[in-house]
Amino acid sequence: MVLKELQNIFHIELDAIYGQHEVDSLFYLCTEYYLNIARIQLTLEPELAITKPETETFFKALEHLKQQQPIQYLLGETEFYGLPFKVNENVLIPRPETEELVDLIIKGHSQQNKVSKLKILDIGTGSGCIAISLVKNLPNAKVYALDISKEALKVAKQNAKLNNVEITFIEANIIEVAENSSLWEDVASREKGFLFDVIVSNPPYVRNLEKQEIKPNVLDNEPHLALFVDDDNPLVFYKAITDFAINNLKPKGHLYFEINQYLGEDTKQLLVDAKFKDVELLKDLNGNDRMLKGEKI
Ligand code: GLN
Repeated sequence: MVLKELQNIFHIELDAIYGQHEVDSLFYLCTEYYLNIARIQLTLEPELAITKPETETFFKALEHLKQQQPIQYLLGETEFYGLPFKVNENVLIPRPETEELVDLIIKGHSQQNKVSKLKILDIGTGSGCIAISLVKNLPNAKVYALDISKEALKVAKQNAKLNNVEITFIEANIIEVAENSSLWEDVASREKGFLFDVIVSNPPYVRNLEKQEIKPNVLDNEPHLALFVDDDNPLVFYKAITDFAINNLKPKGHLYFEINQYLGEDTKQLLVDAKFKDVELLKDLNGNDRMLKGEKI
């Protein structure tokens, strides 16, 4: 079949769901992944034909896309901060907002990284996208990444290998660890007095009451463990991580969060109450409160 024809079929079947522009992107991602054919090649050779088995692969992908399965899970990979990442249903698909958080940390600590070996902890690492992009761009840093999910850690470990970086992975429940410091010493095999320069987290923060805003491709496919919190205690992870940071950050160490845009002021207040200084709420590219930073005194 000629690829152009296949592209037309994608448009006929998917435009109503995704819009024409997005369907083009999905189609080009498929041609790159399945055929190793770049977008430009398609434009230059409109009559490019593919074999029957190749055509079948595209029709299979089309069926999944019709059911609104995320293309990143379908292909098993995505890109974050210019780096390749494997993903599956056990980890969130990395979001552009999180790239902004990573960028903020890299810009804030590049100078410091030149003179000292920064110790960084990423809590709730998922695919490992934050931890791995940080160590790639702050190459002196020693990065630790924690998650409660064994399955997520498997993906994160694969991604560390894929990107050729060393990360120390820790399987633990941050709520428990925050309540019990000896547990932390056990799980992290850390001696007392081991402190971090930077702690970062993008924990679950979507309230059940916000479910109607979440698109079906996210709701039906991405891990709820990584997304949702109870309506009556939405800052549970922020509270635990802030408590943990009080005990495990160096003086002048920094805490960074990705946050729920509707809870900016409340989340900020947590850090203010915990006596962090220079607490700053920052907006993402869509103009929503999305990042929070503070310095331990
Ligand atoms: N930003 C993600 C979403 O809206 C949520 C990420 C999270 O809960 N940490 O789907």
